[in-house]
Amino acid sequence: MGCETAVCAESILSDCPRMGLDDCFTFRCGPDLDCFRECCRDVTIVLTPYDVLRLKRALGMDSSAFLRKHTIAPRFPGQKFPIVILRMQDESKQCPFLCEKGCAVYTDRPWACRMYPLGAAEPKNPTPDDHAFHFIVREELCHGHGQGRAVSARDWIAAQGAEEFEMMGGGFKQLTLHDFWDGDKALTQKQADMFYMACYDVDRFRRFVFESRFLELFEVDEARVEAIRHDDDELLDFGMQWLRYTIFGERSMKMKPGAAERRSGR
Ligand code: SF4
Ligand code: SF4
Repeated sequence: MGCETAVCAESILSDCPRMGLDDCFTFRCGPDLDCFRECCRDVTIVLTPYDVLRLKRALGMDSSAFLRKHTIAPRFPGQKFPIVILRMQDESKQCPFLCEKGCAVYTDRPWACRMYPLGAAEPKNPTPDDHAFHFIVREELCHGHGQGRAVSARDWIAAQGAEEFEMMGGGFKQLTLHDFWDGDKALTQKQADMFYMACYDVDRFRRFVFESRFLELFEVDEARVEAIRHDDDELLDFGMQWLRYTIFGERSMKMKPGAAERRSGR
């Protein structure tokens, strides 16, 4: 299935034929194909923060419970930041959301599932000759290629409802493409925990913001406080802002006067 993270982007940038938004491909998917549902088995689906948000909301679950039950968080050699992957069922290796009719969470399915067989990649420093592009994922198990009518990448993205995911994923993409990751820098365990919480475990992040001294220490205007209290999308955006401050050292947030001293107990 499609992959969008910086983890696998490097090989895609060098190996895949690049498609623009108006380039077309011919593809059809449906229950009449003999491969129906085959792509939802034994597959690695890296979830974005917005994917986690949509799925936990669709399932009516707290983010911590969702992550525990439905994801794994592997650490690969050289991996810069925490990622979460959809956990396949132990014996069948099927996606837990696969049902007789197809995808039980279709309306809220992850970005990679809705884009398939279209992938997306973006160089870290785009230039007019080297910019964001799409590419086609071809796997033997998928018999939808060459069937149906030709569709442009742009129309495919719109038809799959992927635009909202791309818009909501913008902050996370900027985070993952940040200069901080250049060279040998690695997150401390504490920073990795903060990254995981703010990006994926949003309900725990909300508790952290409202049940710790966080709001005594940082200047956050009242309207924003109310927004992040109730709105997961706002909270996710706020989490990215906090990570830029606390990990990258950017001035994306401001401490209240005297907060540094209060925090250190002086
Ligand atoms: S979330 Fe839906 S589309 Fe994606 S792998 Fe699972 S069943 Fe298939
Ligand atoms: S055509 Fe491809 S995407 Fe559709 S069900 Fe078959 S394997 Fe999955």
